[in-house]
This record gives sequence, structure tokens and C-alpha cells, in this order.
Amino acid sequence: MKRINPIHLVLVIVLAGSLGCQPEGSAPDHAHGTGSGQHTHQPEGDHEHGTGAGQHTHEKKTPGPNGGRLIASVSPQVEFLVKEDRHVQLTFVDSALKPIDVPEATVSLIGGDRQAPSELGFQVSGTVLISEGALPEGNVVPVILSFQIPPASDPIVERFNVDFSICSECKLVEYACICGH
Ligand SMILES: [Zn+2]
Repeated sequence: MKRINPIHLVLVIVLAGSLGCQPEGSAPDHAHGTGSGQHTHQPEGDHEHGTGAGQHTHEKKTPGPNGGRLIASVSPQVEFLVKEDRHVQLTFVDSALKPIDVPEATVSLIGGDRQAPSELGFQVSGTVLISEGALPEGNVVPVILSFQIPPASDPIVERFNVDFSICSECKLVEYACICGH
């Protein structure tokens, strides 16, 4: 068995202490964070929650320009909106959420019951894309949207429920709700 030299051990602790606790200000603030009680000051993990960096917080989401659901996983971003005739309107927007012209894109939607799903294509109509058919019946319609921008690129797939009930907080339809719940 290897015997640990006590002096060596002390040195390690002192070193670890001085490295781990760089004085950032006069009073080191380790109170926020996980509250594990240990004097751990991990440079990354400590700041994941609650510092308002905006990445992992459940703040209000941004509504689309027409009150629809903003899909930010694609570039340019696109607003998903169901019109009164249940046709889907896709409005592409810039970073300031201003509508822009429809880019070269292939978009398809599969919606409704898994047993008998409807597949909808889209056509350019002015400055938006409009689905060639209507969404299937129902107050909650699961959809899978596939975006290829430009058309030959790898598809980006977005799945969500088109829930037509009204959110009691923001008064938007649930599929476009911005409350983050
Ligand atoms: Zn809401």
C-alpha cells in the first residue's frame, strides 16, 4: 500500500484552494448555485442556473409577427400560423422578426393521427408559404414539419402539437403560447 505523505497532502489542498478560489472581488460569492455546502467553484457549472444569462431560463417566448408560433430552429426563422380555414401559413422573418420574402425552401407537413396522417405541401403565396391542404380535424393535431432551406440541404424537423385551445395567461392559442409553461 502506498503511504501518502501528509506534507504533500497539505500542499495539494493549499494548491487546490488557491486555484479554485481566485478572488474575483473582495468578498468571494459562492452562495448562489447548487448549495452543496462544499467549497466547489466550478467555473462553468456554477452559473448554469439563475444568473439570467437567458439560455436556460423559462422566460416568455417571443411571439411571431402575426401571433403564431415562432420556429427558431431554422434559418431564417419562420412563424407557423393556422388560418381560419385550417390552412397553415408560414411567414419567414429576419432577426428582428420582420417578415421577409420566402427563401428557396422545401417544406412539408405531416399531421394528425398516426394511423391516417395527412401530408401537406406548401406553395408560395405572395410573401408567405401556404399549405396546399387543410390540417386534419381535431382540437389538438400533432404535426411534423420538415424544412429544407435551401431545398437540397439536410431537413430540419420540428414536431409539436397544434393545440387550438386558448391559453388563459397570454390569450394566444396554445400552439403559439409564449408563457413558457
Ligand atoms: Zn400562454
